Amino acid sequence: MQFNVAGLLKGPGGATQRHKLEESPFALDDTQAEHVWGQVTLMRVNDGIWVTGNFRAAITCSCSRCLKSFATTVRFHFDETYYPTRDINSGVAIRLPEDAEQDATIDDHHILDISEGVRQEILLSSPMKPLCKPNCAGICPSCGTDLNESTCPCPKESRDRRWAPLMGMLSQGKN
Ligand SMILES: [Zn+2]
Ligand SMILES: [Zn+2]
Repeated sequence: MQFNVAGLLKGPGGATQRHKLEESPFALDDTQAEHVWGQVTLMRVNDGIWVTGNFRAAITCSCSRCLKSFATTVRFHFDETYYPTRDINSGVAIRLPEDAEQDATIDDHHILDISEGVRQEILLSSPMKPLCKPNCAGICPSCGTDLNESTCPCPKESRDRRWAPLMGMLSQGKN
């Protein structure tokens, strides 16, 4: 996800380039997205290149109730300004604006790389508590049976461990 922006940097403010992007697989922290695709617009602005785009990423999640892996797609919007570290014409080093992200720089060869920004957006857009289906029944905390596939003989109360700490507090209060 790299672009040579020498031409854009030399161009007038408002000059734009559009690119279609596709990458598979795309490395995340300790996992990967099977496929990432989208469209970006690069625009020359005052002190850099403004990158916007819409993406989708095909990822594998682990269900927070039954722990099974399942495939899902996340969508996200990308919006970041990248700054050159050297003046395109004179080669003189340029100081980054104070509010610039540390990794939002264009290198000395005029390569703008949005991979890290896209990686962060995928991680931010991924569900915190993924569910394989909205009504996933989860696994029985007593015997480990996947309750989507079969029932188990455990009494229902023991399955509902969420209430256990509260019940403990109530019974303590009585004594
Ligand atoms: Zn599930
Ligand atoms: Zn059970």
